[in-house]
Amino acid sequence: MKFDIVTLFPPMFDGPLTESIIRRAVERGLVDVRLHNIRDYATDRHRVVDDAPYGGGDGMVMKVEPLAACIEAVKTERPAARVILTTPRGRRFDHDAARELAGREELIIVCGRYEGIDERVRDLFVDEEFSIGDFVLTGGELAAMVMVDAVIRFIPGVLGSPGSAECDSFADGLLEYPQYTRPVEFRGARVPDVLLSGNHAEIGRWRRQKALELTRRVRPDLLHGAELNGSDRDYLAM
Ligand code: SAM
Repeated sequence: MKFDIVTLFPPMFDGPLTESIIRRAVERGLVDVRLHNIRDYATDRHRVVDDAPYGGGDGMVMKVEPLAACIEAVKTERPAARVILTTPRGRRFDHDAARELAGREELIIVCGRYEGIDERVRDLFVDEEFSIGDFVLTGGELAAMVMVDAVIRFIPGVLGSPGSAECDSFADGLLEYPQYTRPVEFRGARVPDVLLSGNHAEIGRWRRQKALELTRRVRPDLLHGAELNGSDRDYLAM
């Protein structure tokens, strides 16, 4: 899958996109991330990319020309790519959105800065808008990194264990059950006996029940959309 990130700050992506699982996915040719500096498309002597808002008010707005030129240049190489804008007003980026985007071959992610982009960029070039939450970041770069990270987990071969993205929190609408590893006891706190029993049916039942309990306790809203079977419902009714 190919990601083209349109940003004023390409160095921000050093590290988050060049380590661990993402780095391995890139090395194995499963993921390709290219960074495009909007400032390279500013044509004036000072390479200006922002200007004061029409109508007055605080802050600066990202100018239409360099951003349009940058997106168009990327689009020339990736005509079929979907253009995604990071913005607080976008659709909430969640598990389903990540899975949906993973079904695409090419994404161009536009990172806003300052007070945001000139509205005409949105009207002329943007296919879809995403927000990573109801708060305001200083720029879209962190949102883009969050999105790339969450999306690539759904690309076959990216995660160590196949299917692990489909067992994680939100996959079936529930939060994941609690996890433990060695030692069996730490400062008096023991790993639940069932996990040491070797009885996989019992372990499966325990995990499902813990996932239901946890979801009901911390995110009861998720239960409305969760895939629940008869025994799940019986357990929740107890
Ligand atoms: N003036 C804008 C507003 O009130 O909606 C906020 C602009 S914000 C300071 C600058 C850029 O950060 C935005 O253009 C967007 O690209 C990015 N951004 C901020 N919050 C975001 C969020 N919750 N999700 C995704 N991107 C966000």
